[in-house]
Amino acid sequence: MGYVIFVIIVGLVLAVGYLYYQLRLQRHYYEYKADKMDSLETSLKEEQEQHKITLNKLNKVAYINPISKIGNLDYFINEACNQFFDGENTPFTLLVFNISNMGTVNKLFGPTEGDKVIIYSATCLRRIGQNQRFLYAHLYSNLFGALLRTNDRDAIIALTQEITAALQGYNDSFALEPSFGICEITDIEVPVLDLINQAMLAQNLNKNKKECNYNFYTKELNKNFTENKGMSQEMEQAMEQHKFLMYLQPMVDLRTFKISSAEALVRWDHPEKGILSPYAFLPLFEGTSVIEKLDYYMWEECCKTIRRWIDNKIEPTPISMNISPIHFQSLKFITQLNTLTEHYLIDKNLLILELPERGIASGSAEVINIIKTLHENGYILSIDNFGSMYSPLNLMRDLPIASIKIDRSFLNKNTTSDEGLTILRYLIAMAKEVDLSVHVEGVETEEQANFLAEIGADVAQGYFFSKPIDLREFDALNKTMINSVYKSDEYYPTFEDLEKDLDLIDYLLKQA
Ligand code: C2E
Ligand code: MG
Repeated sequence: MGYVIFVIIVGLVLAVGYLYYQLRLQRHYYEYKADKMDSLETSLKEEQEQHKITLNKLNKVAYINPISKIGNLDYFINEACNQFFDGENTPFTLLVFNISNMGTVNKLFGPTEGDKVIIYSATCLRRIGQNQRFLYAHLYSNLFGALLRTNDRDAIIALTQEITAALQGYNDSFALEPSFGICEITDIEVPVLDLINQAMLAQNLNKNKKECNYNFYTKELNKNFTENKGMSQEMEQAMEQHKFLMYLQPMVDLRTFKISSAEALVRWDHPEKGILSPYAFLPLFEGTSVIEKLDYYMWEECCKTIRRWIDNKIEPTPISMNISPIHFQSLKFITQLNTLTEHYLIDKNLLILELPERGIASGSAEVINIIKTLHENGYILSIDNFGSMYSPLNLMRDLPIASIKIDRSFLNKNTTSDEGLTILRYLIAMAKEVDLSVHVEGVETEEQANFLAEIGADVAQGYFFSKPIDLREFDALNKTMINSVYKSDEYYPTFEDLEKDLDLIDYLLKQA
């Protein structure tokens, strides 16, 4: 009996021990599991944190403007679509603004000051935007945008005034001048980029307004925009059909009063509107690829003309070609020019490239590089419309520029008063000091021509000598002005004659 009890007790002890052991094992297991879970959770959290940081960094790169440190265009579009246009029936307004006198800031104080203006503008916009809870961004370049949940015109105008006042705090001696374009949104299905374009169309109208710095977008504006879009297609077709004509305006040497070169100026032979001046179409396409194509077209016309003169044993007249500022973004156009001169076997010093003052006034490293490369390639360089932006002559001194072409408006302004005449005299003297040849455009009277010759200008261009004329007229005028070279009884085919000859040959070949 005692033995049985002993066995039972031992059995019980063993069972309890086993149970205890199992329980400990399980506890360890759970503790181990909990520990593992904890560490897994921690590493997951760390990973998530890391992921967040990476995402933030990526977002910063993708959505934050590196200069102003506020959202960029992509951020604006994304936020507008995902957060703002939330299906509620709220009216919206999109507003854009830029600093209209940014060019002057860059010119007077340099690009670093330009960056400071951008940062300051972004800071003002952020402060006002956070207070009034609207979406804001630095869209690109010098353009800012805001999207508001209202279409209350008074409130919007008040906002433009608040931003204007804030920007005035930048500097006591220099006022930043914002220019606003406003687009009331009636249909949120319209893509945000189109809305921005509409606001910019409205903003463009401020250029000719002094009284206020904002403008509302209207359907009428869109009509013009669509018409312009249509015109752009029309222009491309016109180029293919050769409807753009090269007119030449003689440039006269003020010592000999003979033609020394000629400026190539474009005209559009429009089927309904007749011969159109560049003022009727160039401004519409300023900064677009249409202008790039048109420039290339005109450069080719110039090369063809020089080739024709050479082939006809006529002393070629150097031609001045206009280069639009859009080309100053890369060296691509230099390759295009080289291709043309190689194709038509033209000596590069027969081409004078007119670089508009507004395109080079920044004096940036890129612009300087372009000017130096053009010079190294053998082109003659001239600064067009000099005096329209008051660039310092010093800028030209360090660059391989052959001449400046004094702007027509500068001549007009300065030939009506004694003070103006003195300014002109000094400008020409100073240009001579830095070895620049001086060309003057817009010479309309004999008096102006004589005065300019007297004060040392080298070349004059203007209605007094001749308006821009077509190739046939130019050839005729050139004949009379270079009598010494021209023999009156010599057969002297024009480009059109040659084309007619080629047509005739073509016709005869087909008949044969
Ligand atoms: P710009 O290069 O300053 O050309 C001179 C402009 O002044 C020409 O106007 C010419 O006709 C005009 N002009 C010349 N002499 C006189 C004068 O005595 N009195 C007056 N009132 N005007 C005079 P146009 O031909 O209408 O050209 C206007 C502008 O259009 C040019 O100014 C140039 O910036 C641009 N442009 C013309 N053709 C081309 C081209 O083929 N390519 C590019 N990129 N721009 C061109
Ligand atoms: Mg010109």
